[in-house]
Amino acid sequence: MKLNFKNRIALFNTIAVALTAFIAFVIIYFVVSYSSYKHLDDDIKAEKRIVIRNLKLEDDSIILFKIPEWEENEHKQMEVNPTFIQIVNSNGIQLFKSDNLQKNQLSYNLKNNKTTYKNAIIDHQKIRQGQFPIINATNKIIGQVIIGISQEESFYVLHNLFLVLCFAYVVLLSILFIIMYFVASKAISPIHQLITGASKINDSNISVRLPLPENKDEIHQLAGTINELLNRLEFSIQQQKQFIIDASHEMRTPVTAIKGTLEVLLRKKRTAEQYEIKINEVLTQTDRLSSLFDQLLQLARLESDNSIAKKEGIFLKEKIEKIIQLHVSISNLNKNKILNNIPSDCKVSANDLLLERILDNLILNAIKYNKPYGNIFCDWNSVSNSLIIRDGGIGISKEQLPFLFNRFYRADNSRSSEIQGNGLGLSIVKNLCDLQNIKITVESEEGKGTVFFLQFPA
Ligand code: ADP
Repeated sequence: MKLNFKNRIALFNTIAVALTAFIAFVIIYFVVSYSSYKHLDDDIKAEKRIVIRNLKLEDDSIILFKIPEWEENEHKQMEVNPTFIQIVNSNGIQLFKSDNLQKNQLSYNLKNNKTTYKNAIIDHQKIRQGQFPIINATNKIIGQVIIGISQEESFYVLHNLFLVLCFAYVVLLSILFIIMYFVASKAISPIHQLITGASKINDSNISVRLPLPENKDEIHQLAGTINELLNRLEFSIQQQKQFIIDASHEMRTPVTAIKGTLEVLLRKKRTAEQYEIKINEVLTQTDRLSSLFDQLLQLARLESDNSIAKKEGIFLKEKIEKIIQLHVSISNLNKNKILNNIPSDCKVSANDLLLERILDNLILNAIKYNKPYGNIFCDWNSVSNSLIIRDGGIGISKEQLPFLFNRFYRADNSRSSEIQGNGLGLSIVKNLCDLQNIKITVESEEGKGTVFFLQFPA
């Protein structure tokens, strides 16, 4: 059975109250029933005391005195609150039977040695009966007194109480379910408002936010959480749009250049030398496009793959040396000197391939954005477990530093100096560092140089 939330709240509350009420009603019923039996048993006991007082016990025999009370109506008639008395000796021979018993007998157990009470029926009448052993001076049981009194009255009281409780139970639960249903409807109405509000939001109106309820309760919290989620979604949609704009822009430049070069070539016949120059220009642009596609692909893979990269112990000095050798022709061109001051026993825990890509990007940038004859220092801080790559290059202004790791971001220094690039390198570096829990930070001063810190996990 699939119930909606409102019905579920109403049902669960009703079940909880139903159980509590059931326990309460059962307790009420048993308390009343116990006290009514107690009352009957007390009456029987009082009657027994009178009977016993009028018995004379001589050795094993019982002598009865006729007492005036036995002439009363209750001992003679069946109809009005009858009291039945029967006395038997230890052999089961009947010594006395009240007139109202007529030809009926009270049931008894001859072996009974203590007071017992039970319910019985005499001539279609419900009675409560008590059986008491008669004990002589030598502590021997010489007979039994059996006394029964009508319990019709208390039976009807109990029966009526049972009916009233059952009826009250059904009525109480029905009323309770209806009340709970309306209370639940009222309680979840703000959730309905949230559902209506949220269902109207799509990517064309993603800046719309859900109204926050006045009460600072769980629903207020839920609306706040949905709004925060919308903030993140809006930011991510905007980023995606910006990414498409930036990527198209980056692609347009080389494509336009290729198209222009080819169109110029087609206008008239050229010498073989001129063709070679133009084809080389086209090749440079296609290289640019190809490296852009490679980097975009890398970025897409990194962002979709959150799997933890397999780490190993890597000797940092050796790794940096390998990268320096890769870029030796460019650094020589710019007359830059790269000083690898890392201790030879310095070992870091990282993924070999990913660390190589990080270092490659950072060292290449330190060369690209350096001044002629500028030095590059690679140092190790053993206290903070950090690699420091410092260049004495053109630097980045303070205002631009926070955007450095954004995709396609290129600081003013790179645009004016016509250094080749597309602004994807550092965002790839940031993703690679995040994947390996390496904390990357940057400090820079315009005209003086830039420092990248890579803090490895301990
Ligand atoms: P690209 O170098 O392809 O432009 P990056 O993502 O590697 O892209 O770098 C982003 C920008 O950060 C660069 O365009 C440049 O403006 C700035 N930058 C990066 N490294 C340095 C550095 N060592 N010195 C000065 N500027 C830098």
